Amino acid sequence: MDVKTFEDLNLSPGTLSGIKELGFNSLTPVQASCIPLFLTKRKDVAVEAVTGSGKTLAFLIPMFEILLKRAPFRKNDVAAIIISPTRELASQTAEIVDLFLKHIPQFTSILLIGGSPVSVDIAQIMEKGANIMIATPGRLADMFNHTTTLKLSACVKALEVLILDEADKLLAMGFERTLNSILCYLPKQRQTGLFSATQTKEMEDLMRAGLRNPVCISVKEKDSASESSQKTPSTLSNFFMVCEADMKLSILLQFLKSKSNEKCMVFFSTCASVDYFSYVLKELIKNIPLISIHGKMKKNREKIFSNFKTYECGILLCTDVMARGVDIPDVHWVIQFDPPSCASSFVHRCGRTARIGKTGNALVMLLPNEETFVNFLDVNQKVKLEEMNAPLAPDIIPKVKNMAMKNRAIYEKGIRAFVSYIRFYTKHECDLLFRVKDLDLGKLANGYALLKLPKMPELKNKKLTNFEPIEMNFEEIPFKDKNREKQRKKKLLEETPRKSGLSEKREKYLKAKKLAAKKALAKKRKKRKAMADTPEDLEDLARDARLLKKFKKGKISKETFDAEFAADLNEDFNEV
Ligand code: ADP
Ligand code: MG
Repeated sequence: MDVKTFEDLNLSPGTLSGIKELGFNSLTPVQASCIPLFLTKRKDVAVEAVTGSGKTLAFLIPMFEILLKRAPFRKNDVAAIIISPTRELASQTAEIVDLFLKHIPQFTSILLIGGSPVSVDIAQIMEKGANIMIATPGRLADMFNHTTTLKLSACVKALEVLILDEADKLLAMGFERTLNSILCYLPKQRQTGLFSATQTKEMEDLMRAGLRNPVCISVKEKDSASESSQKTPSTLSNFFMVCEADMKLSILLQFLKSKSNEKCMVFFSTCASVDYFSYVLKELIKNIPLISIHGKMKKNREKIFSNFKTYECGILLCTDVMARGVDIPDVHWVIQFDPPSCASSFVHRCGRTARIGKTGNALVMLLPNEETFVNFLDVNQKVKLEEMNAPLAPDIIPKVKNMAMKNRAIYEKGIRAFVSYIRFYTKHECDLLFRVKDLDLGKLANGYALLKLPKMPELKNKKLTNFEPIEMNFEEIPFKDKNREKQRKKKLLEETPRKSGLSEKREKYLKAKKLAAKKALAKKRKKRKAMADTPEDLEDLARDARLLKKFKKGKISKETFDAEFAADLNEDFNEV
């Protein structure tokens, strides 16, 4: 059967309306080969086709058609499951599913990607139903294990279609066992589609476990042998280096010094990191021009950028504002001090060098817990990295800590950079490869040359090894900038009345109390004077006067004054 347009497929009106809304007319090659086999011949399929070839509709269209033929379903019946490796991908697929559901309203769908308690998802399934599930493997497995309120294993008895999208990524991200455990819950009578950008050896096992006599479909780009689909230019030498968090800065410094005659770009994950490390490196590297650019920088960005373009050698520290599109001539080295926020950003960063046929080098510095990223890039972006040994570098951290003890800008910027880095990590797209819980936070804090740990949720109730806070009064660290220091001192001074550690409210309260005490004393005096006829009474009066004098001069504390005066008043009271 030769199909060219969606009309040729005899689709139901709902599905066709969805396609029309997307504005598509003809099928892409992968859709043209996959849909008839999956939908008409009812075959399990294993589809390999490059990113961007239209795989999503290649499985969504047959899925909707199969469900429509088999409908109606009960509210709690799960008729189709689409498993995606990342939250972003799952969300993207769910958006397209929802677009079709506007025209096929008899089905319900749910997106299961974590980020909220399982109970929230379960409540939604019970309330709205979930005929089509779009899920990340981890969350889906959790849902199967959560059997108290909803028995998902019973709901999936009606399953007709299972899709494993981006199967290469699923495996590269270490989901094999999770997938196998999910497969155990699913009925054998179903149709399964496995979709990926590349066929890997590991996929064979998954195909054996999940598919029945699959038809393999492979759609290659017309003009490309498989190697040429590599996303980075062949003139680029691409390296990775594994280093401990507390040695990263020292190694970077050593590396940059060894490239003093070349032009280098160093990428960081956050503006605060660029700000901090450029400040520190400027103090440590005197003979190479060093500039920085990040997104929060408003002034002079254009000027700095055009200056760097003209440099023959020099260092530019930057965030991903510089990763896309910008064209800087003759960059010899692109160094990624922090990993990129996603795989494609890696390619964009590297794209700053080896442009238009020129040679160039790229290096990504990874922490030991991040080494799997190398494999991930290979599968995901077809980028192969070569390992480079870290150069021997003297430990620069003690020196930077020393600088921070004398320079408040370094001390404060360091803390800001550290906090922003942890935030970046927490929100990382590849949250299975980059997990905060895998970070050695002590070493990391040391690597940022922190003098003490900042207060933040990630560090709460944690006892960190590998980090010793410096014992000193941090308030005494001055700004080098005279004006800034003057301002800071002034502010501190304004705050001194409250330096006792008391709040403004408490201070007001104490003041009022002091006034009341004074009045009470005056009253007592008056009364005593009127009644005074014994030497003890006169001695009492003199004692009260001395007490008040001492208190006014600050020789005794408010508490002592209150206690002694009140004791006296109480005695009086008891006497009455
Ligand atoms: P893949 O999953 O293979 O990476 P997608 O399914 O995400 O690719 O599709 C890539 C892009 O192509 C999307 O923007 C999608 O909207 C578009 N697309 C898909 N099918 C068609 C089609 N038949 N005609 C035109 N564009 C299409
Ligand atoms: Mg896809």
